[in-house]
Amino acid sequence: MSNENIKYYTADVLVIGGGPAGAWAAWSAAQTGAKVILVDKGYLGSSGATAPGGTNLLYLPPDQALRDTAVDMRMNSGGFLSEPDWIYRVLDQVYINLDRIEQWGYPFVKDEKGDAQRNHLHGPEYMALMRKQVKKAGVTVLDHAPALELLVDEHGVGGARGVLRQQNKEWEIKAGAVVIATGGCAFLSKGLGCNVLTGDGYLMGAEVGAELSGMEFSRQYAPSAAYSSPTRGRLLGWATYYDEDGNELGGDRGGDFLAKRLLNGGSVYAMMNKADTPEKQAILRSAHSIFFLPYDRAGINVFTDMFPLTLRYEGTVRGTGGLRIVTDDCGTTVPGLYAAGDAATRERITGAASGGGAFNASWAICSGTWSGEGAAHYAKEKASLLGDRELQRAGKYGLHAESTTQATQNEDTPPTSKLRPTTSNDAQTDVVIKELVKAIQNEILPLEKNYFRSESGIQESLNSLHELWPKVQHQKVESIHDVVHAREAAAMAATARWIYTAALARKETRGRGLHTFTEYPEQDPNQHHRIIVSGLEEIQVSYDTSFIDKVEKYQELLKKEVQAK
Ligand SMILES: Cc1cc2nc3c(=O)[nH]c(=O)nc-3n(C[C@H](O)[C@H](O)[C@H](O)COP(=O)(O)OP(=O)(O)OC[C@H]3O[C@@H](n4cnc5c(N)ncnc54)[C@H](O)[C@@H]3O)c2cc1C
Repeated sequence: MSNENIKYYTADVLVIGGGPAGAWAAWSAAQTGAKVILVDKGYLGSSGATAPGGTNLLYLPPDQALRDTAVDMRMNSGGFLSEPDWIYRVLDQVYINLDRIEQWGYPFVKDEKGDAQRNHLHGPEYMALMRKQVKKAGVTVLDHAPALELLVDEHGVGGARGVLRQQNKEWEIKAGAVVIATGGCAFLSKGLGCNVLTGDGYLMGAEVGAELSGMEFSRQYAPSAAYSSPTRGRLLGWATYYDEDGNELGGDRGGDFLAKRLLNGGSVYAMMNKADTPEKQAILRSAHSIFFLPYDRAGINVFTDMFPLTLRYEGTVRGTGGLRIVTDDCGTTVPGLYAAGDAATRERITGAASGGGAFNASWAICSGTWSGEGAAHYAKEKASLLGDRELQRAGKYGLHAESTTQATQNEDTPPTSKLRPTTSNDAQTDVVIKELVKAIQNEILPLEKNYFRSESGIQESLNSLHELWPKVQHQKVESIHDVVHAREAAAMAATARWIYTAALARKETRGRGLHTFTEYPEQDPNQHHRIIVSGLEEIQVSYDTSFIDKVEKYQELLKKEVQAK
């Protein structure tokens, strides 16, 4: 493909991903006066895990006792892998940003005293507002423009390349710093808003040497109607569960009940008959309207009819793992590369417990804000050094076998490199990629492999994934459509291998069940560390204990306070 089919841009900060984390990163970077570009695989405002649903948040007024309790509870439930000062930071920043959102005109529900209920954001309104604010701040937004690979030189990351799907073109952006905010990885398990989340940012980061942390904490499945995608599990708290003949089963949505029953080939039907008055039903409908859509369309009254359930894998989306961050402004171990939201590890605030339910959405806001500011300052500080760079493409897996070529120096001197795929569409390639994805899903989605984890079972699956890995490298890509899907397959294969490698390195059960082994049902004090994985061909494992002093001091202080009482 010739150069007129590549669009070149320069920016101080490039943000990859337009969920809440990316939107906050772009907005915050722009507030410093930086020139910012945001690219999204879908559409900033409706893409990703938050946009079609909504999120509860860790919003607490500045009351020290309330905050201390919140921190204490999370430290315990997260198996003491989180850091108290980071949780307090998040509480402070969420408070500031939600005030901002209200000033921008978000219609918070008010209580009888007229106070805004800031602990929940409705996805569509929230993300439409974020799009408006991001654009108002002067950020250039490229929708339907997935990033495929980063650009690097000896100074670190200096931009990225991707495709403009609707124009059948490529983009290349040279930037002083890059924020990866591509969300988590849900392995195309069809949860609403999650099929764009294929771990692309993890792969791009790892290709330039970034590390990942907490990948073992990813044993996360959500109940959903068998024939639709919304995974609003909390609503199922209003349900009674039945078998196919209408006999009551007696379980609830929590714990292992659903997983055990589905694993043994049994069906589970739900009926939300605990919401037994028109008033309760109306409240549920107005709070989570999207949950009801597929049932309404199918003519099912969820309050009086039974509907079949399944469990959808959510991977790292409501897990805790992601790119390791090593600075207060969410910098990774690679200069010029920042990570935010589900693309980053959330262990520093969630520990080993799921962040879905308040922590992850709060983290997206805060890590977005910090990474945007951090990236903008980095780009400014290093501007003279970064002005004239010979950047190389870092992408390797799932891209055409052609060797990497030099990237552009600036907008006026486009490089001679050409797009790796051609524009022809090869149905055969599509089939091969689909088969590869299916093979990855076969190792990562089944309850018997990933929910009920055993050491031997995970080892077997990891061996199969390692065998698949060479196929990922040598996919034949012929079109823009193919290259996006081939990269997604590569990212999912890499993510699955990191998840199971980290799982095998944690021979215990820590925190609230995001990683368990049947062989090791207890928490082991000797494994009080974070597990870091890195690398693609060979995966390296190391252990981070740098936070432990902090945690021990916190525990000591708590003990003294309890004794003093
Ligand atoms: C059903 C459900 C309910 C949840 N409820 C809660 C809750 O109540 N409280 C809570 O704290 N958390 C909750 N979560 C988690 C929360 O939604 C996420 O933590 C949050 O959306 C993370 O924001 P993000 O911006 O990192 O990722 P996302 O919102 O997922 O956005 C990622 C964006 O990156 C884009 N992208 C992906 N790959 C690329 C690429 N290669 N190039 C360019 N763009 C790319 C995607 O299109 C998407 O727009 C829930 C999650 C689910 C699935």
